[in-house]
Amino acid sequence: MDFEFDLENRIVDPEGIPEDNDIENPLRPRTLGEYIGQDKVKENLSVFIEAAKIRKESLDHVLLYGPPGLGKTTLANIIANELHVNIRITSGPAIEKPGDLAALLTNLNPGDVLFIDEIHRLSRSVEEILYPAMEDFAIDIITGKGQMAASYHLPLPRFTLVGATTRAGQLSAPLRDRFGVVLRLELYTPEELATIVSRSASILEIEVDNDGALEIASRSRGTPRIANRLLKRVRDFAQVMNDGVINYQVAKTALDKLEIDELGLDANDRRLLDTLIRFYKGGPVGLETLAAAIGEEAVTIEDVYEPYLMQIGFLSRTPRGRCATHAAYLHLGMTPPGAQDMQQKLF
Ligand code: ADP
Repeated sequence: MDFEFDLENRIVDPEGIPEDNDIENPLRPRTLGEYIGQDKVKENLSVFIEAAKIRKESLDHVLLYGPPGLGKTTLANIIANELHVNIRITSGPAIEKPGDLAALLTNLNPGDVLFIDEIHRLSRSVEEILYPAMEDFAIDIITGKGQMAASYHLPLPRFTLVGATTRAGQLSAPLRDRFGVVLRLELYTPEELATIVSRSASILEIEVDNDGALEIASRSRGTPRIANRLLKRVRDFAQVMNDGVINYQVAKTALDKLEIDELGLDANDRRLLDTLIRFYKGGPVGLETLAAAIGEEAVTIEDVYEPYLMQIGFLSRTPRGRCATHAAYLHLGMTPPGAQDMQQKLF
C-alpha cells in the first residue's frame, strides 16, 4: 500500500485546491432549481426567500454549516441571486480588525447579502461589532483616543448576513443565537452526485454516460467539489483511452490509477485507518493521539477525514475515543476482532 502523504495536492481533499479555480465558477448553480440535492434545505430556503420578497423585507440572517465542498458558498450566491440583491463575499480570517468589518457593513445597499465564510474564525473584537449590526442594524464607532475620543452611532441598511462554517459547535452562543435560519448541509448520495457530474460534464462539454457518472460519483466522498475535480481528471484519461468519452471502464481505470478506491478513500484515509488498527488495536484512541501518529492536525481529521469515514460506517466516535469498525478491517483486508471485543470497544 502506498502511504505517501501529500496533503498539498490531495485529489480527494474537500477543501478547495488551486486547480479547482478554473472550473468552480462556471459549474456553480445560479438558482435553487439548478442546485441538486439538499432537498430539506432548499425547501426551507425557498419559503423564507419568497416570504421576504412578499413582505419586501430583507431575509433573516442565515447560518449554513457542514463539511467543506458541499455547496455553502454556492448557496450564499443563490440566495442573493434569488433575492435580486448584491452579495459581498469575505471570510472570518480576512476580517482582521473591527474597522474592516465596519467598512464592509457601511458599504452595503439595502437588502444586500454579506457572506462570511469560516465565520467561526472571527476574532472576539470583530464579533462584538457584528452583534448590534445583526440585531439593530447599527454600529457604534469610536474614533480617537483619550480626551479626543468620540463615539458615533451609525445606522446601517437592513442586510442579510449569510455565515458559513464547518464547525457550528465552535461558534460562540451569542453569535449563533442571532441567526434566524440555521441550515445543516449533508453529504450527498452517489445518485445526487451522479446528477451533478452529468450536469458539470454538459457545461464543460465532456461526454459521460450514466455508469461513468455514477462511478465517479461513488468515489467522491459525498462531496460535489471532489466529484467535479475527479470528472476533470478522468477526462484526461478518457481523451487518451476512449476518444474523450467517459464510460464505466474509463472511469474505473482512471480512478484506480489515481489510487482512489471504490469507496473514494485515498492513501491518506487508508493510512489513518491502518494506523488506528495496527498501532492502537482498532481503538478507542483519542483524537490528539491519532493526529500525532499520522502527522496531521486534529481539526483536519475532524473536518476532512472523519465525516466521510463515519458516513460509510468505517469509524465511530465513542466517549473514549475513535474506533475502527468491523467494515473498516474488512475493507483493508484485515481480520476484525471477535464480536465480543468489538462490542466492548464501541460501547
Ligand atoms: P463550500 O462553500 O461548502 O466549501 P462550494 O459552494 O464552494 O462549497 O461548492 C464547491 C463546488 O461544488 C462548486 O463549484 C459547485 O459547482 C459544486 N456544488 C456544490 N453544491 C452543488 C449542488 N448542490 N449542485 C451542483 N453543484 C454543486
